[in-house]
Amino acid sequence: MFKAFLIKYAEIGVKGKNRYLFEDALVRQIRYALKRCEGEFKVHKTQGRIYVEVLSDYDYEDTITQLKTVFGIAGICPVVHMEDEGFEQLSQDILAYIEKVHPEKNMTFKVAARRARKNYPMESMEINGKLGGIILDAFPEMNVDVHHPDIVIHIEIREKIYIYSKVIPGPGGMPIGTAGSAMLLLSGGIDSPVAGYMIAKRGVSLEATYFHAPPYTSERAKEKVVDLAKLVSVYAGPIRLNIINFTDIQMYIYEQCPHEELTIIMRRYMMKIAEAVAIESNCIGLITGESIAQVASQTLQSLAVTNEVCTLPVYRPLIGFDKQEIVEISQKIDTYETSILPFEDCCTIFVAKHPVTKPSLKMIKLHEKDLEEKIETLVETALKTREVLLCKKDYR
Ligand code: ATP
Ligand code: MG
Repeated sequence: MFKAFLIKYAEIGVKGKNRYLFEDALVRQIRYALKRCEGEFKVHKTQGRIYVEVLSDYDYEDTITQLKTVFGIAGICPVVHMEDEGFEQLSQDILAYIEKVHPEKNMTFKVAARRARKNYPMESMEINGKLGGIILDAFPEMNVDVHHPDIVIHIEIREKIYIYSKVIPGPGGMPIGTAGSAMLLLSGGIDSPVAGYMIAKRGVSLEATYFHAPPYTSERAKEKVVDLAKLVSVYAGPIRLNIINFTDIQMYIYEQCPHEELTIIMRRYMMKIAEAVAIESNCIGLITGESIAQVASQTLQSLAVTNEVCTLPVYRPLIGFDKQEIVEISQKIDTYETSILPFEDCCTIFVAKHPVTKPSLKMIKLHEKDLEEKIETLVETALKTREVLLCKKDYR
């Protein structure tokens, strides 16, 4: 019965002169998401609104599912189209519409008519009043509330008459592509995919870097990260994934430095390398899944020491989240089941029994001096030999 969707957007409505840039980006992202479902759609802007018109048979549930992945959408309103066959017919149609869309009926409502076609023989206020009365007569369980109604029955009079009253919540945020790009350090864990999702939600395009340590980490561990990048791309759009062979660097640090500082020194090199890739790709920030005190390498002291190697800003959207809160988001965005698959992670392989929890930058820098002989060459090689994959999710 629904032949179109009106797309409501919240924040992008207040962007002043740049508003059209945000709207155009939103239209683009909606088109991209709808490629994943059956059916032909036309997405267009008219009079400061975005409509998705359905041009063929389609799957309603799947269409809603895909629209819910588009950042920038605050609400999705399924719209019914009716021919203008006079007010009498309109009243009948509205009653049939309510019967179908709101069968529970025990709710407050108001009618909000809008005449986009001024030659319609009644004014908006008159339509509101008359239809309100007709609805009350037909359904005595319903009540009018003009200030805080449970539902607003919108009636837009154009060439055809459009009716909508249901608002399905969208994901919110800003359309992808309106805020530049950032480099996500993507591991196979629960946290980093969620961190990427959260930054993408603000309109940021993602690129990703993954460090593996073959043969200590398997091909399957790498596949898992590719799968995670694809899952995040459902929301964030295509993600270029840089896969960096970290084995030699890790081994070298293991040979040269105190084992309890291994993780911290490794993390510093990861950040350095990710930043080099980021700068090459015009990313203007790094993103990690770190959260204060989750593990030894995420105490405030450890974070400070890790952060010290970066010149780009590092975004840590999970910094104040508990694990359970992160798990809940990962379940919502469907990365959880993949994240918990049991494959080795390059960080855990050489991990010390008692890693430092309060590293001193001075000591770390001193011990890093023992890497001077080879580390630059190893980093260069790791950068040069990286593998790059484009990760995206196509269903059709
Ligand atoms: P996650 O669940 O995201 O793996 P974690 O709790 O295991 O996080 P750490 O292993 O300390 O935490 O990693 C902290 C952050 O460093 C990760 O969220 C991720 O952004 C980055 N990171 C860790 N390991 C890797 C890796 N192998 N490749 C790329 N980034 C990594
Ligand atoms: Mg991890």
